[in-house]
Amino acid sequence: MGFVGTLGDIFRILRHVFRQSFRRPFTYFYPFEDRPYPERTRGRHIHVRENCTACGQCVRACPVVAIRIDKEDRKFEKDAALYFDYTRCIFCGACVQACRFDALYHTKIVDLSEGDREDLIYGPDEITTLDRDPLEWRGRRFR
Ligand code: SF4
Ligand code: SF4
Repeated sequence: MGFVGTLGDIFRILRHVFRQSFRRPFTYFYPFEDRPYPERTRGRHIHVRENCTACGQCVRACPVVAIRIDKEDRKFEKDAALYFDYTRCIFCGACVQACRFDALYHTKIVDLSEGDREDLIYGPDEITTLDRDPLEWRGRRFR
């Protein structure tokens, strides 16, 4: 390759760099900015207790024994409290498929992180709401 060929390559590279510098980056400024997740993302669950009948099908369907049910803990006429162990869950979706009463869904929340393993067991207080404490890092608050 001669001098002209090398010059052509350099020109093409510079042209590419110039074009890319005016495009939106493909990356996201996570965790300050969240990417849009697909509609069928299997993130952490939400339990709609009003619809739950305490049938236990979700518990039986779980291949890794990640769900515990407490039928004594009732908030409505027929429901039960569910406890999800996210140290075990593989987000396979079998529990959501097994629920015939529209009481269990996946959310798009996929970043589950805690300093203590015990905090990854989501009891009725956490699993029935999408609210979560805002995270703080080096004086900055996000989400
Ligand atoms: S998503 Fe799969 S592994 Fe997780 S709790 Fe449901 S059935 Fe169990
Ligand atoms: S969440 Fe659904 S499958 Fe699980 S106990 Fe309630 S009604 Fe049954």
